[in-house]
This record gives sequence, C-alpha cells and structure tokens, in this order.
Amino acid sequence: MTSSRVLVLNSGSSSVKYQLLDMSDSRRLAQGLVERIGEETSRVKHSPADGETREWSGAISDHDAALKAVAQELSRDGLGLDSPELAAIGHRVVHGGKHFTEPTVIDDTVLAEIERLIPVAPLHNPANLTGIRTAQALRPDLPQVAVFDTAFHTTMPESAARYAIDVETADAHRIRRYGFHGTSHAYVSRATAKLLGKAPEEANVIVLHLGNGASASAVRGGRCVDTSMGLTPLEGLVMGTRSGDLDPAVIFHLMRVGGMSADEIDNLLNKKSGLIGLCGDNDMREIRRRIEEGDESAQLAFDIYIHRLRKYIGAYYAVLGRVDAVAFTAGVGENASAVREAAVAGLAELGLAVDDELNAVRSDEPRLISPPSARVAVAVVPTDEELEIATQTYALVKGSDILT
Ligand code: ADP
Repeated sequence: MTSSRVLVLNSGSSSVKYQLLDMSDSRRLAQGLVERIGEETSRVKHSPADGETREWSGAISDHDAALKAVAQELSRDGLGLDSPELAAIGHRVVHGGKHFTEPTVIDDTVLAEIERLIPVAPLHNPANLTGIRTAQALRPDLPQVAVFDTAFHTTMPESAARYAIDVETADAHRIRRYGFHGTSHAYVSRATAKLLGKAPEEANVIVLHLGNGASASAVRGGRCVDTSMGLTPLEGLVMGTRSGDLDPAVIFHLMRVGGMSADEIDNLLNKKSGLIGLCGDNDMREIRRRIEEGDESAQLAFDIYIHRLRKYIGAYYAVLGRVDAVAFTAGVGENASAVREAAVAGLAELGLAVDDELNAVRSDEPRLISPPSARVAVAVVPTDEELEIATQTYALVKGSDILT
C-alpha cells in the first residue's frame, strides 16, 4: 500500500490544530483543534471531510492527552494514526533562526537546535517542541518533519536582514530580522505567479498576509528579499493586537517615565496595541460595522492600519523595482474588500488599481481584482498553510520535488 497521508500539527502553548491530508490528490481528510489544554474545560472540535463535525469538552491535561484525543477522533473516521497510509507528520515550527532554510526531518540534533532558539522565540518554540516530542512518542517509526515559519525569509540579503546596531552585540544575541508567516508567503507568492500564468522565477510579488497577525513580503522570482516582521512578529504592519513599527525609544520612555517593566511593555505592545489598542476591537468586521455607524475611533484605527499598509506597499515597490502583482491573503486580506480598496487607492501612477465589481466578489478561489488593463495585477489568493506544510513534508519524505 502506498502511504500518501500527512498529518499536519500546529502546536501552541495550550492548543493543537491539526489536519490530515492525502497528498495523492491534496485532499483534506479531516481537520480540527484541541483548545484550553491543561484546563478542566478543554475543547475538542473535529471535522471529517465526509461527515459531521463533532465537538466535546472535558479535562485534557497535557499535549500527550491532546494528541491521543486527536488519534481517537481520527480512528472513529477510519483514519487512525496507526495506519500504514500515514507517510509522515509535518510540524509547524515558528522559529528556525538562520540555520533552517528548508523543511527538515527531525532528529535529536534538530530538536536541540530548535531548543537553542527558545530565547528568540520564548512563546512559540517550547510549545512546538512539546508537540514534536508527543508525536514522536506516538509514532516513533514515522518521519517527523519541521516546517519553519522563518525558512522562506532566509534568502533575504544582509542589507534587509540586519538591523543597524552594533554588529558584535547583534551577533552575540542573534539579533537580526528573521520574518514570520513564511509558509504563507511562500504558498501565496507561488500561487500568485500561477494565477498570472508565470513560473515563480518570473514573477515579482508583494504579498500582504493580513490576519490577526499581519506581515508583508517582497518576493523576487520566488525568493523573499524583504519582509516586515523582524526578530519577533512584533515589527511591521499594524495588527489585530500588535503595534508593528514604532520608535524603539518608546520602550525606554515607558520604562523610565511610565514606570513599566519589560514584561508589561511586551504585553502592551503584543496584546493590547494595534487595532484593539486603538479602538477596542481587533476584528475588521466589527471595525467596519462601527465605521458605518460613524464611530470615529474605529475610523482612526482603520486609517492608521491602512496608512502603514500603503507605506509597506510603496517600500516594497522600491525594493523590487518591477512589480507583477500585489497579493492579499489571510482573514482580512481575503475578506475585507474595503481594506484592499483603500490600500491601493490613488496609486494608478504605480500601475495599481482595483476594479470595484471584481473586488466585491466573494470566493475561495485565487482571483484578480485589478482592471484587465492594469500594469500591476492585484490579486486575492487564499492562503493554505497546512497544505503547504503537508506539501513540503511529503516532498521531503518522498524525495521528490513536487513544489514546482
Ligand atoms: P490568524 O492570524 O489568527 O490566523 P486569520 O487569518 O484567520 O487570523 O484572520 C482573522 C481575522 O480576519 C479576524 O480577526 C478578522 O479581523 C478578519 N476577518 C475574518 N473574516 C472577515 C470578514 N468577512 N471581513 C473582514 N475581516 C474578516
């Protein structure tokens, strides 16, 4: 029997999201999540492709118990993890530093390196490691592959990857711009080239991944040359709860004048800033609804969000020199036509425009929203990070290059 299934695991500190895919036809067989791990009221939501969604609550004490619950749910659909059809498990790993430029089969050395990166990814890498170790215990015989959020950005030139600070200090603490959401930027830039009828090597694309977290990237011929997130996912665009770019002196000011600790400022900038800090809501649907009602703080939050986005579009236009497409993706990018419209309004001189009718269309398919005559294509390209992780995992374990 040929094994063509890949289980994709995205392990957070208190949650596990999963998808089982059949890579012979890239079909999703099941997906789900376990939330609030470690609490009395953990929740499991499991959706088989060919059946009803099942949801239940109960105490799930740790990641081991969570993965066993996932295995049990999959077994009920005849998709058990003990099946010989399972070819590999692909893990989303947030931080791969400079070292991991490709998806990597996990062994002890790889685990040690992911662990060594914990100081630069204290929130994410420990949870990713727990997920990997749990999955290894469940199926020690199976290849486990790490797919890094940072990998796609490792092609950035030093001029984009380095901060202009003392080199010795930067190197001693591994301070540089790593970028995140790389799996999505890789997938969307490739899918955009395909939409234009070009090979990835032929297309220059600005990708705008606008979810709750948000980042932009400049992709030249399939390779990332700049991205807006940096050492951590805090830099760059205005996000749901993160500030994005700000004068670093704001931090000293808050410490010296505001009497805040490093942890308090970390929490402020990551959790209580961005859209939620500006207007109390981080959901773009709610912000648009409030704007319709004439709410001024929602309008200002939207304007700040759009202003930053336009600055990055302009910056990456200059970085790339020639742009074939601007692609919008993730929750906001795929759904909020008002954001797309405002992001490129008045940029006809740069060859950028959206067609109102095309922009209003709702669809799950990649599509162009620019007028046919536009010099630069504007596209909506739904991202699929799980499919990308599964594709990279499968390509690695089967030793084939199915990405091209
Ligand atoms: P995450 O970063 O959590 O993966 P997503 O890519 O799922 O986020 O994006 C979630 C965000 O997408 C929501 O917070 C909301 O702002 C936005 N969003 C989702 N659906 C819509 C919609 N129909 N219109 C506008 N914004 C939307």
